[in-house]
Amino acid sequence: MNKTAGKYIKTKYFLYIFAPFFILTFIFFMVIRNSSIKNEIDQIKISEKISLESVHEIVLNDLSSVTSDILYLSQNISLYKNLEKSSLDFNETAEEYLNFIKYKKIYDQIRYIDNSGLEKIRVNYDAGNPIIVEKSELQNKEDRYYFKNSIKLNKGEIFMSYFDLNVEDKKIELPYKPVLRFATPVFDKSGKKQGIVIVNYLGKNIINDIRKNSDLNNSNSYSMINSSSYYLLHQDKNKEWGFMFDEKKSINMINDKPKLWEEIKKNQMGQLFLDNSLFTYIKINPTENEYILFTKTQDNIQSKTSQEYRWVILSTIPKEHFIKIKSEINQRLLWKLCTISIFIAFVSSLYSKSKYSEFLGLEMIKEKNSELTEKNREIEIQKETLKKMNSYLEEKNEQLFLHSTVDPLTKTYSRRYFSELFSKELTKSKRHPLPLCCIIFDIDHFKKINDNYGHLAGDYILQAISKVIHGKIRNEDIFGRYGGDEFLIALPETDLKAGVIVAEKIRKTISEETFIFSETSIKVTLSMGISAVDDSVDTTEAVINNSDSALYVAKRKGRNRVEIYHRS
Ligand code: GH3
Ligand code: MG
Repeated sequence: MNKTAGKYIKTKYFLYIFAPFFILTFIFFMVIRNSSIKNEIDQIKISEKISLESVHEIVLNDLSSVTSDILYLSQNISLYKNLEKSSLDFNETAEEYLNFIKYKKIYDQIRYIDNSGLEKIRVNYDAGNPIIVEKSELQNKEDRYYFKNSIKLNKGEIFMSYFDLNVEDKKIELPYKPVLRFATPVFDKSGKKQGIVIVNYLGKNIINDIRKNSDLNNSNSYSMINSSSYYLLHQDKNKEWGFMFDEKKSINMINDKPKLWEEIKKNQMGQLFLDNSLFTYIKINPTENEYILFTKTQDNIQSKTSQEYRWVILSTIPKEHFIKIKSEINQRLLWKLCTISIFIAFVSSLYSKSKYSEFLGLEMIKEKNSELTEKNREIEIQKETLKKMNSYLEEKNEQLFLHSTVDPLTKTYSRRYFSELFSKELTKSKRHPLPLCCIIFDIDHFKKINDNYGHLAGDYILQAISKVIHGKIRNEDIFGRYGGDEFLIALPETDLKAGVIVAEKIRKTISEETFIFSETSIKVTLSMGISAVDDSVDTTEAVINNSDSALYVAKRKGRNRVEIYHRS
């Protein structure tokens, strides 16, 4: 077998095992991979929701603490006392507000404004060095929206402004200072509205709380968006506070991600994949807080009964994060797949080797078989040849036998074979006892036939006489050539009398026959001597001798006659 065929068989059996197992393993790994990715994503989704809910809670808590602060400040005992004084000296309250702003650290300004819009107390945080603003610097805020909105409120109701950047002297303060203004009316003991307390809450606290909560594991980023879709917090700082700047008015989510914004508008909370990034959002409605009553009496802001919201907190996990997760899972599984594939390949190669040797064994057996068949064929041919040789030998044997037992010219038994057969008859006749005669005859003047008509004519006469005599004797009679023109006839189970009759019949037949050879008629006579077997003879030679004696007498007495042997 050549190398290519061997390679082909090895590859074939290798693939028989490797291909299905590899495909199954591959499918199995693909299922594991997909379910791992799904699990991972599900976990991320859940964790995003949880963390967003906690952000929601934190923001509401922040607002809640502001509302309680402002309610406390508006119902401050010293403020009541001051209001009762005719001098309306707010020094004591201002001092308290100063301490409050100093230790709270979350307010930029605390003010008391009387019902005519005049600032009576103003405490500035001034980046950690709080001061009570001089009376001379206090201003009238009668026309400002927060005054207008909050002076209308009832006791315990709080106005909350938009979340925006602080503006000083009509310029946006730098660095940006996000603020939320909370204002509530102040009533004296008699229940008469005297003014408002207003605090400028430092919005960075809320923003920092949101930022702190971002989950580094999930590499998410938080955005805070107001209800007009402007960013208050964004990964890209340039996109923040778009509504505050004329040139940034178009930077908002409606323009950035209109599809996402449409989705966000639909639900209080939700999660969706857009462009392979995961977005999770929750809306914050400050009115959920029982103290914030900012909307109740406002004409230009939302009604508390509506489901409107102020802000949306949006968490974004970029597609790159999911690509990373997928590639990590892929890599982890790829190693395992490689290890298992190597194992499968190893087992497959063992199998293919064993199959290959099995194949080689079969090939060898086949080869041996065909060799054996060839050998068998050769043996068959030899057998056939032997058979032929055998039959040839048998034929030759037969011929040899005939040659040794039959005289080729006259087809009578040879002298030797006649003696053999006669000897058996003699034994038989002695044992039973049965009569047995022996005739011997000789052609009269045969030499003359040879001389007159030729040797071939002599042969013809020998053949013709034999043929005629064969027709006159029984099958069991034994007819042999004694030599030359002399013949012997043994007549088993025939006594002398019957024997003489047979001899006479033969003699007479021949003497009356005319033999024709080459259109020449030839007449022949026979002289015959006959003797019967009796106790006096024991051997074939003795019997033949006795008959021969009788023949001699027949010749002597004139030929063409039968003479019986008589013991003298
Ligand atoms: P007789 O009456 O006394 O027997 O006279 P005969 O001429 O027959 O004398 P004999 O028996 O002695 O001679 C036999 C002759 O037969 C001698 C021989 O030439 C001849 N002869 C013997 N065998 C054959 C043979 O096979 N063919 C031929 N053609 N002649 C044979
Ligand atoms: Mg003769």
